[in-house]
Amino acid sequence: LRTPLTALRLLADTLQAPAGQDPATARDLASKIGAEVDTLSQMTLEMLDLTAIESGRQVIRLMPSRLVEVVRTAMERLGDQAARREIRMEAEIPAELEVLADVDQAARAIGNVLHNAVKFSPDGGAIEIRAWPEADGEQVTLSVTDDGPGIPPDELDRIFERFFRGDRSRGTPGTGLGLAIVRHILRAHGGEAWAEDRQPPQRGAIFYLRFRSAHAA
Ligand code: ADP
Repeated sequence: LRTPLTALRLLADTLQAPAGQDPATARDLASKIGAEVDTLSQMTLEMLDLTAIESGRQVIRLMPSRLVEVVRTAMERLGDQAARREIRMEAEIPAELEVLADVDQAARAIGNVLHNAVKFSPDGGAIEIRAWPEADGEQVTLSVTDDGPGIPPDELDRIFERFFRGDRSRGTPGTGLGLAIVRHILRAHGGEAWAEDRQPPQRGAIFYLRFRSAHAA
C-alpha cells in the first residue's frame, strides 16, 4: 500500500510545484495519478476478496464442472488484451474432463494465472493451456505455460505470498495479490497451485492448478 501512496504524494507535490504549471506536464502527472489510484482500487478489491475467502465468508459451492468451459470463460476475459499484443493463447483440454469446482471462483483463479501469463509474455508470445487426469483418478491438473522471463528458483514459492512482487515485474502494473488469491481458491477446492521455471533452452514459467476430479472415488 505504501508504494502507490508514496507515488501519489510525489506526483501531487510535483503537480503543485512550478513544473506542474506547464499544461502538458500537468496532463501527464494527472494521468499517472489516475494509474496509481487504479492500482490502489484494485488492491483494495483484491484484499477484500482475499479476506472473504480466507475467513470462509465467501461460500464455495463445489459442483461437477467441465474444465474446458471454465477455461473458456477465463480466456474470453483476456482475449482482447492478448490480441492487442499478438499473443497466441491456445488451450487443449479434453472435453470430458470434469472437476469439482465453484465455476466463478475457479474461472477467477485460472483468469489470474492467464492474466499474469499475458502480462509477462513478450509481444507475439505464445501461451499454452493443457489439462490431464492424474493416474490416481482422483485429481485433474491444469498447466499454463508462457515464454516470458520465467521465475527465479528462490521466488517459485514466494510469488504465492500476498504482496510479493518479483524484481522482474518492476514496471508492470500489479498488486502482488493475484497469486495469493489463486492459491487460496485452489486450497478451498481441496487442490493446490504451484509454479515451475521451464528448462533451458526454453524460457518462461509454468503454472499448475490441481483440482479434484468430479469422478473421484
Ligand atoms: P502481480 O502480478 O500483481 O505482481 P501476482 O501475485 O499475480 O502479483 O504475482 C506475483 C509475482 O509473481 C509477480 O510480481 C511476478 O514476479 C511473478 N509472476 C507471476 N506470474 C508470472 C509469469 N507468468 N512469469 C513470470 N513471473 C511471474
